[in-house]
Amino acid sequence: MKLIDGKAISAALKEALAAQVATFPDKYGRVPHLVVVRVGEDPASVVYVRNKAKACEACGIRNTTIVLPEDTSEEALLEQVRSLNADDSVDGILVQLPVPKHISEARVIDTIAKEKDVDGFHPYNVAGLWQKTPHMSPCTPAGIMKLLEAIGVDPKSKRAVVIGRSNIVGLPVAKMLLDANATVTLCHTRTVDLPSVTRQAEILVVAAGRAKMVTADMVSPGVVVIDVGMDRDPDTGKLCGDVDFDSVAPKASAITPVPGGVGPMTIACLMENTVQCFLARH
Ligand code: NAD
Repeated sequence: MKLIDGKAISAALKEALAAQVATFPDKYGRVPHLVVVRVGEDPASVVYVRNKAKACEACGIRNTTIVLPEDTSEEALLEQVRSLNADDSVDGILVQLPVPKHISEARVIDTIAKEKDVDGFHPYNVAGLWQKTPHMSPCTPAGIMKLLEAIGVDPKSKRAVVIGRSNIVGLPVAKMLLDANATVTLCHTRTVDLPSVTRQAEILVVAAGRAKMVTADMVSPGVVVIDVGMDRDPDTGKLCGDVDFDSVAPKASAITPVPGGVGPMTIACLMENTVQCFLARH
């Protein structure tokens, strides 16, 4: 069994980006600038936003974090986004999700200029993925594809099974696997007899948000497992994935750990998207 070291693979990507960014002041007069907006004090969001700032620092990308109070009105947030859209010194805008319930996530995403949409969630970029036209790729699915590439797994002609059909992970990664010529099955809460489907997988991507739901009996020997889940282990309270690592790992040919698998790749791909937005604007 090969442990897919997302930390090392993402570190290599960030190093390459840092080397590229270091050439920008001479070429373009400045470095890329990512603005992250956080509304409220959701503890997970506080950690994610901090990690994004750290990654910017590692890559030489300028970072501004704007923290707005929980009771910020939707209009005030949209106004903030519009002013960042208009600010020429800003290359990428990310509003950390989830936003408080009184704010429409869709309206926030729609308001971010598509050219600065480093998350790849804007309808223009979503359509670009599905129509194979130029677009910004969503970070977590892009990171998953990079992990597969880094360990030399070509999805071509393989049976790929994805658990979860969210807009940010399951659905786009299924499309990316399809574009990489895998035969893809997308599973969700209404899937009948999930284990019989997952046992067919040569590549299994799990993004359900259910701690340790994939157990050894649900996979076939030699499967490549990508665990996107970031859950709390109900027994220990520690961070764990959607895959019961201890029982599944011995059967897998390769598997991501949680933490240290998909998570760091998501952030590295966000850095890559920021650089791409910067370059597209120059
Ligand atoms: P979501 O709740 O939006 O979607 C979950 C999907 O899983 C749904 O489509 C649902 O139908 C499916 N699902 C849930 N339980 C299921 C079950 N028992 N059987 C079959 N399908 C089931 O979640 P999301 O935003 O896609 O996130 C999924 C997980 O990935 C979460 O744990 C989240 O924290 C994590 N995540 C991690 C990263 C990262 O960078 N590592 C990024 C995004 C999300």
